[in-house]
Amino acid sequence: MGKYIVQYNRKKCIGVGACEAVNPERWSVSETRKADLRGAVFNEQTQLFELEINQDELHKMQLAADGCPKLIIHVIDKESGKIII
Ligand code: SF4
Repeated sequence: MGKYIVQYNRKKCIGVGACEAVNPERWSVSETRKADLRGAVFNEQTQLFELEINQDELHKMQLAADGCPKLIIHVIDKESGKIII
């Protein structure tokens, strides 16, 4: 179980690939010009792809979120429920 939940709105992705450039371990842009978040599961309730991560991945996920021109990558602290990125 991770400490954080990454939420990603794939529908709004425009395939620029800034996420992949800084965090290729988790992000890759497919031929359909949409980024895939490796290991994420689609949540029907939120309509977002979600992935649990720990502290060790937080910095690289922050870089991906900061570089995304659509601002569709967010991170929630599971304990507080707050959006931290
Ligand atoms: S940076 Fe954002 S818009 Fe660009 S490919 Fe990644 S998720 Fe999609």
